[in-house]
Amino acid sequence: MIRYTLKCDNKHNFDMWFADSATYDSLAGAGHVACPECGSNDVVKGVMAPNVAAKSDSATPGPREIMRKMTEYRATVMAETTDVGKAFSDQARDMHEGLMDYAPIRGEVTAEDVKALHEEGVPILPVPPEPPKEN
Ligand SMILES: [Zn+2]
Repeated sequence: MIRYTLKCDNKHNFDMWFADSATYDSLAGAGHVACPECGSNDVVKGVMAPNVAAKSDSATPGPREIMRKMTEYRATVMAETTDVGKAFSDQARDMHEGLMDYAPIRGEVTAEDVKALHEEGVPILPVPPEPPKEN
């Protein structure tokens, strides 16, 4: 059994149990999943049910927890680094080689730049993409 938190087109949230995700897909696809509050068949799957995602004390964080951490990490990176755009690769390399004072920077790189920087041992990290907005 799997529990989904569903949302109808009138923004009602409700939980429903299904045998498995395929069962949900076929029932919802056929319009057989109705909102208990307004009867709308226009429902979409929301985030996983709280009894799955709320295990914050366990070693494995749920998807919302990971999303929250990524969002925080992204916000920190954005707040504490200077965007140097396409100069990133050169500046990161110069800092690594001591040709330039260290400063926290972010910028644009190509896949080739990333590969080259890694090969030279220049420590770089990807900035996580902007997460999808929750509604
Ligand atoms: Zn509804």
